[in-house]
Amino acid sequence: MEKTFVYAFEEGDGRNKMLLGGKGANLCEMTQIGLNVPPGFVISTEACLAYLADPNRELPAGVMDQVRMHVTGLERKTGKTLGGADNPLLVSVRSGSAMSMPGMMDTILNLGLNRATLEGLIRQTGNERFAYDAYRRFIQLFGKVALGVADEPFDEVFEAAKQSAGVKLDVGLSARDLEGICGQFLEVVERATGAPFPDDPHAQLEIAIKAVFNSWMGKRAVDYRREFHITPAMANGTAVNVVTMVFGNMGEDSATGVGFTRYPDTGENRMFGEYLVNAQGEDVVAGIRTPRPIDALAEEMPELHRQLVELRDKLESHYREVQDFEFTIEKGVLYCLQTRNGKMNAQALVRTSVEMANEGLIDRRQALLRIQPQALEQMLFPRLAPMASHRPIARGLPASPGAAAGRAVFDADRAEQLGRGGQPVILVREETKPEDIHGFFASRGILTSRGGKTSHAAVVARGMGKPCVAGAEGIHVDVRMRQAFVGEHTIREGDLITLDGTTGEVYLGEVPMIEAEFSPELDTLLGWADAAAGLRVMANADTPEDAERALRYGAMGIGLCRTERMFNATERLPTVIEMIVAESPADRQHALDKLLPMQREDFRGLFRAMAPRPVTIRLLDPPIHEFLPSEQQLVEEIDRLRHLRDTVQGMNILSDAVEFIYRGGTDHPSVARLADPRLVEEAIDKKETMLRKVRALHEVNPMLGHRGVRLGLTFPEIYTMQIRAILEAAAECLQEGLEVHPEIMVPQVCTVQELKRVKDLVSFIRTDVEERYGVRLAFRFGSMLEVVRACMRAGSLAEEAEFFSFGTNDLTQAAFSFSREDAENKFLPMYNEHGILQDNPFEVLDVKGVGRLMELAVEWGRATRPDMKVGICGEHGGHPASIAFCHRVGLTYVSCSAPRVPIARLAAAQAALDAAGGTGTQSL
Ligand code: ADP
Ligand code: MG
Ligand code: MG
Repeated sequence: MEKTFVYAFEEGDGRNKMLLGGKGANLCEMTQIGLNVPPGFVISTEACLAYLADPNRELPAGVMDQVRMHVTGLERKTGKTLGGADNPLLVSVRSGSAMSMPGMMDTILNLGLNRATLEGLIRQTGNERFAYDAYRRFIQLFGKVALGVADEPFDEVFEAAKQSAGVKLDVGLSARDLEGICGQFLEVVERATGAPFPDDPHAQLEIAIKAVFNSWMGKRAVDYRREFHITPAMANGTAVNVVTMVFGNMGEDSATGVGFTRYPDTGENRMFGEYLVNAQGEDVVAGIRTPRPIDALAEEMPELHRQLVELRDKLESHYREVQDFEFTIEKGVLYCLQTRNGKMNAQALVRTSVEMANEGLIDRRQALLRIQPQALEQMLFPRLAPMASHRPIARGLPASPGAAAGRAVFDADRAEQLGRGGQPVILVREETKPEDIHGFFASRGILTSRGGKTSHAAVVARGMGKPCVAGAEGIHVDVRMRQAFVGEHTIREGDLITLDGTTGEVYLGEVPMIEAEFSPELDTLLGWADAAAGLRVMANADTPEDAERALRYGAMGIGLCRTERMFNATERLPTVIEMIVAESPADRQHALDKLLPMQREDFRGLFRAMAPRPVTIRLLDPPIHEFLPSEQQLVEEIDRLRHLRDTVQGMNILSDAVEFIYRGGTDHPSVARLADPRLVEEAIDKKETMLRKVRALHEVNPMLGHRGVRLGLTFPEIYTMQIRAILEAAAECLQEGLEVHPEIMVPQVCTVQELKRVKDLVSFIRTDVEERYGVRLAFRFGSMLEVVRACMRAGSLAEEAEFFSFGTNDLTQAAFSFSREDAENKFLPMYNEHGILQDNPFEVLDVKGVGRLMELAVEWGRATRPDMKVGICGEHGGHPASIAFCHRVGLTYVSCSAPRVPIARLAAAQAALDAAGGTGTQSL
């Protein structure tokens, strides 16, 4: 039997999007559940792939026979005939692949028209204007898509006709005007292609099918797939949908529109939509006229509004997802032409998920699984500071929320140029078209002066999570002059503007912005996530402020506090340096005694903020020379001081000048005037001591050198001070009645002897602190696993460590023997490009290598200590794919930066739900 390439809407499998494309599958599905879809059929993606693979670009054998058979079927169902002069059948030929790529491929409307069928259409409808309007649209679209004729000559003819008719909008044109346009359009095609416009509808159909197939490999579509990482496994080829035309442009009782079953920007449970009376499909999306909100339909055509609400309810209860649908009303009859899952911003996605779960349309598990964790990042978008006293200069539709500031640019190419150069850019257009897509990628936000919330600009911006203000009609864009006029203001290319996609307002200049806040729905959703997850989510935080922020994001504790950040604070650095350059143990102790109370306060602040949650503190990790100036810097400073000593002599000096010199400056005005050679000499001395120290500390490979526990064991006073600060802070909190759970973590460990020694120190200090404070301390002692040997010796380390934390940044460097900076700057991009390595292992955890080490370490560690708590800190801890891996190998927690905590919480839930294989999902 011959292979089936073509399926009628009544027979196609609505679940098979790979074969029929999303649009085709849903048209089949909607037909089969009884919605009013015009009759049609789908030509499969298999036909597309076979066609594109054929060097002669011929459709596979059988396709056109099957098409003709199905056209006969349409003729039977509609009583019309393709090419028939009495009652002509017109169809649309529409693209549609498994992944929605709005506007990236082509669609041709009104196919089947020629001079003879046009006459038939006029006789049959008695509406000449409508018929010519359909014809001119067809000639242009077919000319452009199927024959490759540019838009400009058509647009010129059209504009000229509007001018000579003295009208602004297409609806103002008369039948005669349109007839004239049709004639000129046919000439445009003939001039451009050197051949007459194809008249035979069957030939038109074949050409159109091929053209739509070709659009799968068009530049726009290819760019889009690359940008959104759409692989052949997700969508391979486009299907073609041939659909009986229905006409929204048949007069005042006809209309066309698009709807969302819920609000796509806020998620509000209310139908959202826009429509245009007496218009055809493309018009709404193309932003040719500004459409009316769907609520207006309730007044204009109340019965149809009721039917539309019914359609919306049916779509939602069937698909159980927010739907984005297209409809057309032809002479009072409602047709549904497309539905797909609505693209929403994160805020709307979260709200609808929570509400649909509460309404019983989906369960909590589905609510959690339908949101990509990464998408939550959008909700942490900045918005304009409410106190900012700026006045908007224009207002449009709030088409995609969030605020953005940048330099105004009036075309996509310039946006790309400036954006590449690192400039913040706002793309300002009259309306956008699919070919502007590269401009979107380069821009922070989009502003259009025409079009509605479902215009191209709005849809694409929402999909990308970029702020967009659409239809700001007060703005007049002059692309040629690269400027725009708003009232008395002129915005030139490069001028800073700010837009707020949440309110639709546009401002001159850069308006201050503030961080976004959690919505109640996000709190609910993440609460469900925590209940479903196996992994706990901790935050990396170094200060009480960090900790408070992490708490707001829902962190369950601190998984990594880096104490060196505290050392680096400007007011402490001199004491830290004093400690480092100390020549004797007594001098060093003196400096440490000054640092102790500071660190104790740091830790107390953290414990207080996080109580009763665990706080993991890592003892000093980096090599200490990192706190000193570089050798070169010191040499230069000493030179300058010597020069100063030789030129300025015998004057008094102000102490602040000395201080200034000591800190490395010589440009201070008082230096030259008031330098005292004695004090300059002293400063030189100090610098020289420091220089000697820097030279003594010099290492060939500092990251593999004297750092972490190795440093801690050679200068035990430093760790002693830190441990004491931790335990005393804990004791003080206990005295205040707070429940605290400190965890002391040792970095860079590679042998159990290292751990033993630090642990002895800890026990000794503990006894002392407990005695002095009269409290019993409860805390854990643990080890970083960030060198390969530590993983291999995990079983033995577990004898001393009560927890492990994988430092996957260092562990990745160690496992690959790559230093991160060198790798990323020199060869990793090439490795990735050529598939020598699939990903950057510093961004995406290398599950096969580093992951294997982790897996073994977990296994061996738990063999010694079955209840061993194991976590991961470092960048990988916040990435959904790495989190899924951590769940699989049985980690207890992940720790990541505060803003990634919500993402990690959702990812942790999804990892658990995926692992549960869709059954037996926790206690949801
Ligand atoms: P896209 O994927 O770019 O949305 P579509 O194939 O959905 O392209 O078609 C573009 C526009 O034409 C849509 O507004 C759609 O509703 C309209 N349209 C498509 N087919 C028909 C038809 N048979 N009758 C009326 N309008 C149609
Ligand atoms: Mg569509
Ligand atoms: Mg490390």
